[in-house]
Amino acid sequence: MIQSIRSRLGLKLLISYLAVIFLVVVILVSATQISLPGAFDRHLGGMALKGQFGQPGMMMGPAGRAQGMMADLYRGFRDSFNEALALSVLAASIAAVGVSLFFSRRIVAPLQAMTRASQRIAEGHYDERVHAPGNDELSQLAAHFNQMTERLAQTETMRRQLIGDVSHELRTPLTVIKGMMEGLIDGVLPGAPETYEQIAKEADRLGRLVDDLQELSRVEAGAFQLRLQPVLLQNVIKSLEKRLSAQFAAKNIAFVSSIPADLPAIYADEDRLMQVLMNLLGNAMQYTPAGGRVEVTAWLHARQVAICVADTGVGIAPEHLPHIFTRFYRADPSRSRQSGGGSGIGLTVARHLVEAQGGQIEAASDGPGRGSRFTVYLPAASAL
Ligand code: ADP
Repeated sequence: MIQSIRSRLGLKLLISYLAVIFLVVVILVSATQISLPGAFDRHLGGMALKGQFGQPGMMMGPAGRAQGMMADLYRGFRDSFNEALALSVLAASIAAVGVSLFFSRRIVAPLQAMTRASQRIAEGHYDERVHAPGNDELSQLAAHFNQMTERLAQTETMRRQLIGDVSHELRTPLTVIKGMMEGLIDGVLPGAPETYEQIAKEADRLGRLVDDLQELSRVEAGAFQLRLQPVLLQNVIKSLEKRLSAQFAAKNIAFVSSIPADLPAIYADEDRLMQVLMNLLGNAMQYTPAGGRVEVTAWLHARQVAICVADTGVGIAPEHLPHIFTRFYRADPSRSRQSGGGSGIGLTVARHLVEAQGGQIEAASDGPGRGSRFTVYLPAASAL
């Protein structure tokens, strides 16, 4: 019995309300019984003494008769008072029990709904929502519960999409490798170096994809450490230039940078900033034909440092621009593949890294064939 009361909030609330009602009734009855004789004496006794009670002649008799009458009067008064008190206590208690039932139901009903909803969610029904009107703590709890369910539903959709995307991405190189191996076994394809090279290229692509996926899952889960400190962009660009100049030269693409000497330091993680810029420069190199130009500029923009990587390459059509930070999205998958590039993960990773450092990244292009501009905004160390 006690166990069942303990495990039911509605019952506990009701019992606590009943306890309050009981206490109020006990205090009310005791207080009236204690104060009643005194009050009677003060009000009715005083009236009698002043001769205001009943027939004036009645009070003129012997003192004993008058006292007897007063005692009778008091008993009569007390009985009628107690009767009225019992009736009002009964009426008030019934009303209080009704109100207590109503309020305990109102408190318990949304909690029960949330319990049912959480059980359904645990079974995978992410469309479950709870309804708790008003603006009190319970409605806020219900609103947060619904928000949490919404996030769970989104995560679940993303998980399904990710599995679908990953299987699709893995299937393509695997199909090529399998087809070529079968061709070799059947003797349809010559065992020439080019055939093996092609197989090795697809295997490389698979390896890169797995690395990218690993990095993506790490940044999406936020499983990386940031060492935020003032970083001088000039030094970062110099070191990137050193690493990439040979590749730019080999592709006959001009690489220029113009960073103002008085640009404030950036408050960022140097390695992660390097990784983001490396990705943007790698893309610029990949999507810019020979004879083109890639330029890095920077300026102070409302307490942030803006870093822009602009190229004169193939550009991005307006319909693709809003999606290019979405994982696995490629504006032109065939071009991406031919150029040995990517899985459409690089910009997603870059966006996560920039946002984790308190910044934003955006892309712009005047359209196909008219180049692209990627701008990263990060907090200026001086603004902190
Ligand atoms: P990928 O590895 O395919 O390059 P990213 O996430 O780095 O993946 O880029 C996503 C897509 O954005 C690319 O497939 C490409 O279509 C487009 N893109 C990225 N950078 C550029 C650029 N500098 N010029 C033109 N298109 C670009």
